[in-house]
Amino acid sequence: MIEIPHWLEKQYDLQPDSIAIEMEGDRSITFKELRDYSRKLASGLLNRGIKSGDHVAFLSANHLDYVLFIHAISYVGAVAVCLNIRLSASELAFQIEDSNSCSLVVDEQNKMLGEQSMDESQADIDLLMVEQLTTSEEKIEVRETLRLDEYFTMMYTSGTTGKPKAVMHTYGNHWFSAIASALNLGLTDKDKWLVCLPLFHVGGFSLLMKNVIYGMPIILLDKFDAEVVNRKITHHQVSLVSVVTVMLQRLLKDKKQAYPSTFRGALLGGGPVPAPLLREAFESNISVFQTYGMTETSSQISTLRPSDAFQKLGSAGKALTPASLKIRSGGKPCAPNEIGEIHVKGPMVSSGYYRHSSHENEYLATGDLGYVDEDGFLYVIDRVKDMLISGGENVYPAEIESVLLEVDGVQEAAVTGIEHPEWGEVPIAFVVTRNGYSVTEGQIQKYCKKRLAGFKVPVSIKFIEEIPRNASNKIVRRKLHSLIEKGENREHK
Ligand code: ATP
Ligand code: MG
Repeated sequence: MIEIPHWLEKQYDLQPDSIAIEMEGDRSITFKELRDYSRKLASGLLNRGIKSGDHVAFLSANHLDYVLFIHAISYVGAVAVCLNIRLSASELAFQIEDSNSCSLVVDEQNKMLGEQSMDESQADIDLLMVEQLTTSEEKIEVRETLRLDEYFTMMYTSGTTGKPKAVMHTYGNHWFSAIASALNLGLTDKDKWLVCLPLFHVGGFSLLMKNVIYGMPIILLDKFDAEVVNRKITHHQVSLVSVVTVMLQRLLKDKKQAYPSTFRGALLGGGPVPAPLLREAFESNISVFQTYGMTETSSQISTLRPSDAFQKLGSAGKALTPASLKIRSGGKPCAPNEIGEIHVKGPMVSSGYYRHSSHENEYLATGDLGYVDEDGFLYVIDRVKDMLISGGENVYPAEIESVLLEVDGVQEAAVTGIEHPEWGEVPIAFVVTRNGYSVTEGQIQKYCKKRLAGFKVPVSIKFIEEIPRNASNKIVRRKLHSLIEKGENREHK
């Protein structure tokens, strides 16, 4: 059992007056303030009877109270169940019950959603407002140390391939995730990380850990706004920012001037990345560190190093220092450049899902397909469940989507397979066009034929208003099937 000083106590000791968090409107707080407010909130939780080991569901937008609550939970030794504010009341009710939470804590903005979830839920638990938990008195029985093997957070996977699963993270998982990231990206006393991802997902949450483990200031935004993020990068010495694909697209579109030398790069992950976007960033001289990870790996497990950012465009790099990855297919290791399922191992990998037995094998089978090139760099291809087989050939929807996005006038694209009497399955595409553009099925297919093998060209293109996405904004390809009308297959070439 490894026990370390509470990470926020440590920063309080090392640099009490340094800025910990900057917010919009020129507000900021120091590490001392962050520590004092968090301890007061911890006292509020203790006063409400919340104790070590309790699961406390939390439904809140991105703001300072989120951060205070997370640290308060660690001072109490309870487990934070981080809920997604974009879920419906019934989805939340399921997670509140499934996680065996003893209370639901909400912020002002999500009070109504919290009440609706409680109405839908069978659980008879308290609904508490985070703003009202802070007390003036401070209980002294808050924790001064953290045990790396103890559970700290529970987060549900996005539910892209099925029902969301509750991932349990220990302090050790978050600790190693932060340390591994620093070994990969480097860390300087000038670093300042901008947080515009939701804190209820592990990608955003991990930045709160880096904040207190590194003692590095962060800028916390309540939401992503390209104009605000570009302004912060240009004028507020942001060195790193974590984004998902759509955010990077918007940043590049909005950018009016070159980023200053204080900016080191954008960490990009969470889903497939279209190649044209990486080329555009490259041409604008912006370093993009593609990263691969999942809720189960407490955020990144492999990331492209800054020094490789331009040479290995499209790769998610190598496994971080304490982690390993393998590609396996049919129970055997794959050769370089051979596609198989990505398997990962490392101290940031969660030991299992709540209410399920621990992961059995040494390596976690991720459900993602990828390959490693001859230099050992990982390329993520797609999900195992989304791959289709057409006439004996493997077809990866993400690859086709990336090509569709190169077509002028195509704003969004999603691909899935439909049954075909001769080929088994064939790809079909769904496209959202840009406002004011007219593009035809024939034009899109003509472009695809230039860029893709015949069996990958979608047999049909459907123009729709909106791509089905989940609360994490990921394409839910299995839902595309309900949009498919019968009898529209074309001949397969
Ligand atoms: P569920 O497990 O419930 O189906 P999910 O896998 O979408 O949902 P998350 O943990 O939020 O839940 O997402 C992790 C997944 O995101 C990875 O397993 C992978 O499929 C995808 N992903 C992450 N990074 C990348 C990347 N660089 N390239 C392609 N896909 C990525
Ligand atoms: Mg998953």
